[in-house]
Amino acid sequence: MTKVLSSTIGYPRIGVKREWKKALEQFWAGKITKSSLSTEMEHLRLHDLQKQKEMGIDLIPVGDFSFYDHVLDTAVMFGFVPKRFQHKGGEVPIETYFDIARGNKESVASEMTKWFNTNYHYIVPELESSEPTLTENRLLHSFLEAKDKVGIVGKPVILGPITFLKLSKGYDKKDFHKLLQKLIPLYINVFKELENAGAEWIQIDEPILTTSISEEEINLFKETYKSIQKGVPSIKILLQTYFEAVEHYTEIISLPVAGIGLDFVHDQGANLESLKKYGFPEDKFLAAGIINGRNIWRSDLDGKLTQLERILSVVEKDRLIVQPSCSLLHVPVTVTTEKEIDAAVKNALAFADEKLEEAIVLAEGLNNGKKAIEAKIKESARGIEILWQSPGRNQKKVQEELKRWDEVEPKRKTHYSIRQQIQQDVFKLPLLPTTTIGSLPQTKLIRQARLKWRRGEWSNGQYEKFIEENISYWIEHQEGIGLDVLVHGEFERNDMVEYFGEKLDGFAFTKYGWVQSYGSRCVKPPIIYGDISLKGSMTVKEISYAQSLTKKPVKGMLTGPITILNWSFVRDDISRFEVTKQIALALKKEIKFLEENRIHMIQVDEPALREGLPLKVEKQKEYLKEAVHAFKLATSSVQDNTQIHTHMCYSDFEKIMDTIDQLDADVISIEAARSHGELISAFEEKAYEKGIGLGVYDIHSPRVPGVEEIKTNIQRALHVLQPKIFWINPDCGLKTRGIEETTNALKNMVEAARQIRKET
Ligand code: GLN
Ligand code: ZN
Repeated sequence: MTKVLSSTIGYPRIGVKREWKKALEQFWAGKITKSSLSTEMEHLRLHDLQKQKEMGIDLIPVGDFSFYDHVLDTAVMFGFVPKRFQHKGGEVPIETYFDIARGNKESVASEMTKWFNTNYHYIVPELESSEPTLTENRLLHSFLEAKDKVGIVGKPVILGPITFLKLSKGYDKKDFHKLLQKLIPLYINVFKELENAGAEWIQIDEPILTTSISEEEINLFKETYKSIQKGVPSIKILLQTYFEAVEHYTEIISLPVAGIGLDFVHDQGANLESLKKYGFPEDKFLAAGIINGRNIWRSDLDGKLTQLERILSVVEKDRLIVQPSCSLLHVPVTVTTEKEIDAAVKNALAFADEKLEEAIVLAEGLNNGKKAIEAKIKESARGIEILWQSPGRNQKKVQEELKRWDEVEPKRKTHYSIRQQIQQDVFKLPLLPTTTIGSLPQTKLIRQARLKWRRGEWSNGQYEKFIEENISYWIEHQEGIGLDVLVHGEFERNDMVEYFGEKLDGFAFTKYGWVQSYGSRCVKPPIIYGDISLKGSMTVKEISYAQSLTKKPVKGMLTGPITILNWSFVRDDISRFEVTKQIALALKKEIKFLEENRIHMIQVDEPALREGLPLKVEKQKEYLKEAVHAFKLATSSVQDNTQIHTHMCYSDFEKIMDTIDQLDADVISIEAARSHGELISAFEEKAYEKGIGLGVYDIHSPRVPGVEEIKTNIQRALHVLQPKIFWINPDCGLKTRGIEETTNALKNMVEAARQIRKET
């Protein structure tokens, strides 16, 4: 029978109600044993496999489940454990696995960085000089488990060797080829065991293929996949790409594997165009990523069907696989648990489960004719149409105001050097001023208080009083620690994007719409469904209160337009840039409110600026230009005596050094310690002149850094940056840390600054 197949590239790990996160955190807190953790994880894993089986997905992935991160899984599987964790070889114990990810008392964690252009973070493998060895065949375990306990022949999924090496660090780039040669046989061993166990398909993810790669690298792919497929001739190797179109299309489809997976959503038509222009090999399978795996909107099934029919004019029916565009790791699990969201929005939503159902419906439409799915097509079209027509999407006032701003190039009134003088006269800060990034420990007590208030058990007054008490405690505490620039602590915020979304028109919120960000940390991105506008001041109350308690400056604290955009699920009927400008206009008004209330240091965080960077070099310039425009639209109308700060997380800033400068913020703070200081070298190339704080200690780990360690980090930065522009701050916000460790770390930081000031 010729039949179009349906497939899942990867499924969310976290469970419908974040059971995964809860189990992990209980284990880390010593509240459950290793064996209960493993039982709970197995339960979740099997449940998700069972669910996909019942839905009728033909190719169900196994091995995509993880206890933390799939890149770390791959590293550990091939024996890459950083030396400082003293692993003696053999299977890597779960404790060591978590230590690499989270650090322990003696050793810092491995670096963590963004997974391509998503908000998922992977643990960067440190290869050092370790020889790759196979520590355990985790794919085989997953495969056998799925076979025995769920009765399915799963499709093992693994990160491919080339992407794996490209994402790794700690080796000489000229050894790339040598390392690859060593890895290939290990991959083949893994696959051979799967072959013997009865696997039919293996999906190898090589998302690096959608970035700008060279001809030379393509040759590596040829060599590698020739060896791999030859090693396991009876297995169908599916080479999977996602997040963009592939360059080198003709070479990629000619690779000697059984199937190629392409993204037909984020390719902006390029993959389909190549398909039509160059065709597709008759003997290969095409896994068509047709359903958006990155957004939460329902598909226009009719349009998708047409698109698939176009694909079918090139590819035979029995060679086509219908699937989401990427792993569903990036979307929440299911819409069915959302009981409270506005019906017009809800009916237009599709999360992981609904997306898989769409894949099945589309496959059915191709297999049994359009008639068979007519009702489903109508239903989805109607859902989309209702939202389209809703008043929230059609706010004339916002649209007109935005148009007026399109005529103007946003710009600060004076040059930085002039502003700097004025600001120094106002703030009179010491050399190497100390500050933090904004959030202070969000203890259980704070989260419980918010819950009580949300449930209506606490009145607004009660909750506000509670927040004020926390602010007041911490203002005094920060003064005691000796910090120069204070923050109010962000206690009233559940999350730096959701908090603002709730105060703006055009946003909707889910109850369980969580996605994994890093490790056990999940985020619940708001949904931007309509035109955005400010309902009233968002932050003045808390900041003014904090400022009223101290003579030291308190920074106003806002989340920037690009970050709000990148950390939300965004409507797809207008361009992302249009949405960003709407957010920027709202923020601009909030900044004005803050100034009117005599707040003259205002931080506008853009931690997610870097992560929205397009994967293709030629598209990056435009994105960065738009990002700068939006940031300046929000921030540049301020007075000279208002100091604009911004903050960014995570490494690899070399690419955006110029952008950082163009934002024209008076002070920027950037993560540097977690990435072991690597970013600092970027400043050797470029003389940077505005205020800058490169994080002097990593906040992702509960470890308290010593004074000497912090001094070393400061001195490392002062090799390339002038002391007169340098600020001393941690890597990022402190909300995930405990009070005691935070106090001790900040005391050490202030002491380190004091000692260096003396020596300078
Ligand atoms: N101001 C925010 C905080 O401190 C910034 C967080 C971030 O950069 N991700 O929590
Ligand atoms: Zn940060």
